[in-house]
Amino acid sequence: MHYHIVIKADNWDSVLLPLDDNTLALSIQVRVFLQKIEPSERREFGKLSCDGNGNVKDLETGNKYLLDPWSQTEWQKFPNEFKTIVTRYWDNQFDLIPNKPWYKSPKGLTAAKINCGLAVDIVNPAPQNAHAKFMVFNTKKIPKLIRSHTQIGVKPQVGFINKDDTKLEWLNWLPHIYRKEHILTKINGQSHAVDYLHNTLAHEFGHVLGLEHVSGNTNKTTSYGEENIYDADSMMGMGIAMREKFSDPWIKRLDRHLVRQNSDDAKVKFSGKVKTPQLLGFWDNGEVKHVGNDNWIFKRMFGQ
Ligand SMILES: [Zn+2]
Repeated sequence: MHYHIVIKADNWDSVLLPLDDNTLALSIQVRVFLQKIEPSERREFGKLSCDGNGNVKDLETGNKYLLDPWSQTEWQKFPNEFKTIVTRYWDNQFDLIPNKPWYKSPKGLTAAKINCGLAVDIVNPAPQNAHAKFMVFNTKKIPKLIRSHTQIGVKPQVGFINKDDTKLEWLNWLPHIYRKEHILTKINGQSHAVDYLHNTLAHEFGHVLGLEHVSGNTNKTTSYGEENIYDADSMMGMGIAMREKFSDPWIKRLDRHLVRQNSDDAKVKFSGKVKTPQLLGFWDNGEVKHVGNDNWIFKRMFGQ
């Protein structure tokens, strides 16, 4: 089996290099342009309309947000924070394991595994050649942060994020500010009130990598994994834990690097494995009971 060392593509570039007889590294390289949005900005970004006085309105939901100006230091620090967070959560998280020997090493054919790498290159100040563009709003926490989202299937991909999305925070089980329903999670089939550790930027970058929500491609809580805690407590759910299926971007890209030359090569398949044990990133407040309308109450309050 042969392989291409470099692939350049619209969504990102990638490099496949041998490290030793039993290991290769596949690094995804994403060029990112960061656009600072100031309160004085008067324009529309998709469904977000900025009035030039720091007011932003979501034309779809009617939600309103307020912007703060960026200080020079805040903006100078931001690209580095962006890079640090994205690589902390996505670089070197998976190994791809082959089902049979495939790699022609000096010692013969080996079942070499692939390390999955991720590098971010911030291309500011020039947006040319960026694979992804992020609009960064310095949104006031009150009334609320803009709902971060990523437009995929456009070139470059465009993300809308808040300055504070780089922070690790608790996602509370109480009704989400953008939705009416409570975020409840099924544990052993019962509804529980669960809080999650969450990093919005790391989650949004998962979308840039082409990943959908853990259990469907919508913005409803079912897509975020409310039916089971294992899905919900994951990066493309509501938490930060990595799951095997999030290695998909590397598996797909590896397939383009490999040049399969015969029927034996065609049988080689890789599966993703999370490299390190994943800590639990949630706090279970307890089982809840529906008591009518939009109201839920802790079961323990009934003495059960
Ligand atoms: Zn999402």
